[in-house]
Amino acid sequence: MAGKLTALEKSRRAAAHPDRPGERCHAPAGTWLPLVDPNRCEAKGDCVEVCPHDVFLVGPIDPSAYATLGLLGKLRNRAHGGRTATTPGATDCRACGLCVVACPEGAITLRPPPEPPTIGP
Ligand code: SF4
Ligand code: SF4
Repeated sequence: MAGKLTALEKSRRAAAHPDRPGERCHAPAGTWLPLVDPNRCEAKGDCVEVCPHDVFLVGPIDPSAYATLGLLGKLRNRAHGGRTATTPGATDCRACGLCVVACPEGAITLRPPPEPPTIGP
């Protein structure tokens, strides 16, 4: 049976993933926004392990966030100890995209910066 991957192996695998979004860590900090869907999160912390900028924290879900979950999300959250990932360091995100492809639950999206307004004729 294969052993668990180390954090370095997870990061390497995520770095080679063909669907990795973002700007390969070249974005100015805080221009892209990592978002966690707490309905999907299973709180096992792969995002914490692969993020090079310490954006994520896994801990007890905030009661107000728990209240917004759907029924399945509540059941999932309870099954995982009432914990979830949050992004207290979101302003340090440089859009490497590793977290998105490393998350086994597809719970993370990266929101790109808003388009600059076009100046029309
Ligand atoms: S990798 Fe995904 S499922 Fe795991 S703790 Fe992070 S957001 Fe949650
Ligand atoms: S894209 Fe994800 S892994 Fe990369 S810096 Fe941002 S939050 Fe961290």
